[in-house]
Amino acid sequence: MSDSSLRLVWVYPDLLSTYGDQGNALVVERRARQRRLNVERYDVRSDQPIPTSGDIYLIGGGEDRPQRLAAERLRRDGGLQRAVGNGAIVFSVCAGYQILGHEFINDLGEREPGLGLLDVVSTRGEGERCVGDVLADIDPQLNLPPLTGFENHQGVTHLGPTARPFARTRIGRGNGTGDGTEGAFNDTVFGTYMHGPVMARNPQIADLLLKLALDVNALPPVDEQWYEALRGERIAAATAQPA
Ligand code: GLN
Repeated sequence: MSDSSLRLVWVYPDLLSTYGDQGNALVVERRARQRRLNVERYDVRSDQPIPTSGDIYLIGGGEDRPQRLAAERLRRDGGLQRAVGNGAIVFSVCAGYQILGHEFINDLGEREPGLGLLDVVSTRGEGERCVGDVLADIDPQLNLPPLTGFENHQGVTHLGPTARPFARTRIGRGNGTGDGTEGAFNDTVFGTYMHGPVMARNPQIADLLLKLALDVNALPPVDEQWYEALRGERIAAATAQPA
């Protein structure tokens, strides 16, 4: 990996990439290139070692069994924890989010250890699966427009004291705890239940990751508005769906 490039790592596309979550990598790449940043993207399959010198790591959602396999391999590999120790930024979705926590319930109904990179614990919701469009307000400290996404999960995620809720739901279930929280984050690690893919619906999240990775407060503006139509359409759909 060369030093002058931004290194983007897409973790385990063979196990964790439901609902087009790979689009997150495409959008981060695109928003970086629009700022004339040189991006090197590494798609790391589950039989390959996780590089420890990446700048941004993205992890998607997955079905329950691939989720367990991914957690086992990531624990055994240890590279993602080392990358975070090196200051890397991590953004995770749904199954990926649950894996970054302390533990979740696997497809065998057992408690499966996660990586402990986020202070969250996921259990299995007893009620109906959380499915549908979501609209939420992102933590004001992140200075981002409202979050739009699609959720489909049985897991319910409880935040510990060192994780902040990524957003507060206006519509939808988010973490599924009934307290209105959606996702979690700390200084460098983010988790959300939002598919969509979430970066295509909310490209400013990609910009946030770039700013954190580059350690800058602002990026040059980009002149594109295509996503506003998508946002408008999905926010209208979220608002229209039965509660
Ligand atoms: N298997 C997990 C759950 O149902 C995650 C699902 C997903 O990633 N969409 O909670």
